Amino acid sequence: MTEAGPKPARRRVFLAIWPSEAIRRELLRAARTAVRRSGGRATPPGNLHVTLAFLGPLTDADLTTVMQVPPLPSPEFTIRLDKLGHWSRSRILWLGASRAPAELVQLERSLWDALVAVGFRRERRPYSPHVTLARKAKSVEMDVNPVVWPVSGFALVESRPGARHSMYEVLRNWDFDDPA
Ligand code: ATP
Ligand code: MG
Repeated sequence: MTEAGPKPARRRVFLAIWPSEAIRRELLRAARTAVRRSGGRATPPGNLHVTLAFLGPLTDADLTTVMQVPPLPSPEFTIRLDKLGHWSRSRILWLGASRAPAELVQLERSLWDALVAVGFRRERRPYSPHVTLARKAKSVEMDVNPVVWPVSGFALVESRPGARHSMYEVLRNWDFDDPA
């Protein structure tokens, strides 16, 4: 007879581009009016980010594997966040790029290539880089002041449930392995 052992503890983690304090301030400034008009619940400032790859609930062994994936080759690049968007089903108001930089698209691709090589299952939805600004939000149409965000690496982040919002903790940062 087999006996089910205790379920290993899992941590919900994702890889993300994490803003500096200066970029966080710019994001807040650019988004303030739109968030207010959306009537939604604003993302707490410390939670603002661009997800690169959502990995889900991982065991410590999975986490150790993920830690061995980066750094990844990429030149530094900038993301120009210049347009508001809204997903009506999830009622999310977001800030995105009308043109995603090729380096970002390539980074997401090579990240998943490396993750798949160590046993992860690739995200099936097409990559849609964005910063979630508010939830339970109505659509808002207005111009925003573009935020030009220089990117030189990415972070591994843990997400834990909170009373009002998920709580994020950066577990580790990596700089790109610059091929130049
Ligand atoms: P909550 O789910 O509590 O409202 P959240 O979405 O901020 O809060 P998580 O669900 O832990 O917290 O997600 C962490 C990050 O990963 C967010 O940027 C979220 O958009 C992204 N994410 C979550 N699930 C997926 C998924 N299935 N595919 C792609 N990205 C995801
Ligand atoms: Mg979520």
